[in-house]
Amino acid sequence: MNTLLEIKGLKKYFPIRSGVFGKTQNYVKAVDDVSFDVMEGETLGIVGESGCGKSTTGRSIIRLIEPSEGTILFQGEDLSSLKGDVLRKKRRDMQIIFQDPYASLNPRMTIGSILEEPLIIHGHVSRAERKKRVLEILEIVGLTPHHYNRYPHEFSGGQRQRIGIARALITRPRLIVADEPVSALDVSIQSQILNLMKELQEQFKLTYIFISHDLSVVRHISDRVGVMYLGRLVELADKDELYNNPLHPYTQALLSAVPQPNPRARQVRIILSGDVPSPANPPTGCAFHTRCSASMDICKTARPQMKTTQAGHAVACHLYT
Ligand code: SF4
Ligand code: MG
Repeated sequence: MNTLLEIKGLKKYFPIRSGVFGKTQNYVKAVDDVSFDVMEGETLGIVGESGCGKSTTGRSIIRLIEPSEGTILFQGEDLSSLKGDVLRKKRRDMQIIFQDPYASLNPRMTIGSILEEPLIIHGHVSRAERKKRVLEILEIVGLTPHHYNRYPHEFSGGQRQRIGIARALITRPRLIVADEPVSALDVSIQSQILNLMKELQEQFKLTYIFISHDLSVVRHISDRVGVMYLGRLVELADKDELYNNPLHPYTQALLSAVPQPNPRARQVRIILSGDVPSPANPPTGCAFHTRCSASMDICKTARPQMKTTQAGHAVACHLYT
């Protein structure tokens, strides 16, 4: 498989004011030095609790938000060097599906105009061609031509997410960042949408970055999975390797909380002590050391770097250095 994306040293710091009278300038380190590759045609899952920086990572990659630092190579080309028209053209290749399909669809626009909009923004597609493409895409995502003149409120949650997917797909992108795409849906609808995403991936040779707090959902759809904690990537491995042999104490705790259908596979649930620390004031050294039962002296001072222990299994933890 070819590498589609190379992300190196990605950082996104949001400035905040803190201290007495808000006089101290501080930063929320939403994404703090994250590096990974994404292969052409794969689904890379990114999991972690809310606020761990997974959405900010996804949005920075497709330049919905401007990264503070780092390089993002898309098909070998440095995205941060692109501006204006060239960037806009490139962005056709990278789309996003949002968690809440309702909030992300303009209630005053018909489905037809919602789906035509990306084609208007991204290129010289004639009105007739636009309509043709929209009718095509409606069918591809399991809707019908009758839906062309309808408004978002006339659709169920699952149908609205199909519209969100159609909108992402209509510019024929290579990469789709899916940010909690099924989290707002009933469980019965979730698998329909996940299966649709899998079919579309085959049909259109798509690459997905699939962001979710739900480990079962991520396991269902991903080829490889990365785990984030407090703005950092702490583990990355092939799906089966990660779920069967988690190395990082944080990953082990997350997985131990997932209900196991097979009682013999059930393991002791590891309870994490304390809350997730504030990303405005993350712990020194290993950001997880305040909650880690395996914490050692070195963990308080030295930040562990990602290290590949076996073929493809990378972990950032002093237990493995
Ligand atoms: Fe725990 Fe230390 Fe590993 Fe961090 S580096 S996860 S504190 S053992
Ligand atoms: Mg999020």
